[in-house]
Amino acid sequence: MKYYSTNHSVPPVSLEEAVIKSLAADNGLYMPESIPVLDPATIAGLKEQSFHEIANTVAQAFFGKDMEPETLRKIVEDTLSFETPVVPVSDSIYSLELFHGPTLAFKDVGARFMARLLSYFIRQRGIEQEVNVLVATSGDTGSAVANGFLGVPGIHVYVLYPKGKVSPIQECQFTTLGQNITALEIDGVFDDCQALVKAAFLDVDLNRHMQLTSANSINVARFLPQSFYYFNAYAQLDRIGQAKELVVCVPSGNFGNITAGLFAHRMGLPIKRFIAANNRNNVFYEYLKTEVYTPRPSVATIANAMDVGAPSNFARILDLFGSDHPAISALISGSFYSDTEIAETIKEIDEKYHYLCDPHGACGYRALAAGLKPGETGIFLETAHPAKFKETIEGILGRKIEVPAKLQAFMKGTKQNIEMSKDYRSFKSYLLAQ
Ligand SMILES: *Cc1c(COP(=O)(O)O)cnc(C)c1O
Repeated sequence: MKYYSTNHSVPPVSLEEAVIKSLAADNGLYMPESIPVLDPATIAGLKEQSFHEIANTVAQAFFGKDMEPETLRKIVEDTLSFETPVVPVSDSIYSLELFHGPTLAFKDVGARFMARLLSYFIRQRGIEQEVNVLVATSGDTGSAVANGFLGVPGIHVYVLYPKGKVSPIQECQFTTLGQNITALEIDGVFDDCQALVKAAFLDVDLNRHMQLTSANSINVARFLPQSFYYFNAYAQLDRIGQAKELVVCVPSGNFGNITAGLFAHRMGLPIKRFIAANNRNNVFYEYLKTEVYTPRPSVATIANAMDVGAPSNFARILDLFGSDHPAISALISGSFYSDTEIAETIKEIDEKYHYLCDPHGACGYRALAAGLKPGETGIFLETAHPAKFKETIEGILGRKIEVPAKLQAFMKGTKQNIEMSKDYRSFKSYLLAQ
């Protein structure tokens, strides 16, 4: 399958090229030329399948023509070493827990898949020069990507994160690893980190000096595999007869996760509609209401993985719908919440249902609780384990919460990072010296 650029001014490329390059030369995002549709019998049969089988069915439909089916199956199985269970929270609302992976956030799925696919293509091509992954993070991407790529031969990862804006646990997850992982602490906000990465990709000098790629959700190998767990969630609900009139609510920042859901929908997964839940960074919500998209600097919130003022996958959503605003707003609605409302919601779910939500999942729950119509079943993506936001949650609930051993292990390492200004020239000269 070929991948075209959302800016349409360069020719389509192979999957291999799209994964190695991340961003098209015209600054557009890669999109598959066609979206495979699964027939209704396959969809109805999902409930009989394991997560590995379901994910493999979806992966083969997308990537099956670009590599040996057996190699792809192995990549899928290595990626998914954990479950994504659907858990009932209230009467008609379920939580899709995506935090059972190594860094306890949904990004583990995309990061692990991409690391394996990129490593496969590097070996295929016999690339001698190291491939450098640049990744901007507001917290969870850095940890998932760093851990997904840790020790993978031929790849070096540079994690750029905003100083003082990620939680201590998140910071430990990518600053303590060493080996092929370098953490760069940028004196700025997340958007500055993202701007540095984008500038580096477009810099001819730098690209002559080193092979660069991105592991943000602009990379097709990062965002597309996220469609696996939408199918898996459907299968779980179908097993208990709850898969009709399904409304899926996705706490969104760069909109990679919800875009994967939209792909699942296009592939034939019976999802009635989507809700994009945001914190105060609500440019997508405004677009839905006004048809005008105005990216702006992000503001800091307690759901910091969604502190994005210029969501990179917006271009993919527009492309999927041919920029048809009525079509987009017919399928997707939006909601956004202040820190106070997020805190209230965490407290409410804990008290009423004894379910602990992280700040991102809480936005998702609240949007469903507010917007679900009679007869609909709601499912929100619980994108991270609440313990990743320990200080925030404990402050809200006024009690200690348990930190899983997996997470505690990260806190034991020694922090190694390099401090840097948000000025592109200093970032560039640092990279040129590597
Ligand atoms: C990354 C992240 C999000 C936002 O996901 P996008 O794909 O960028 O929209 C939401 N919640 C958590 C916990 C995250 O880490």
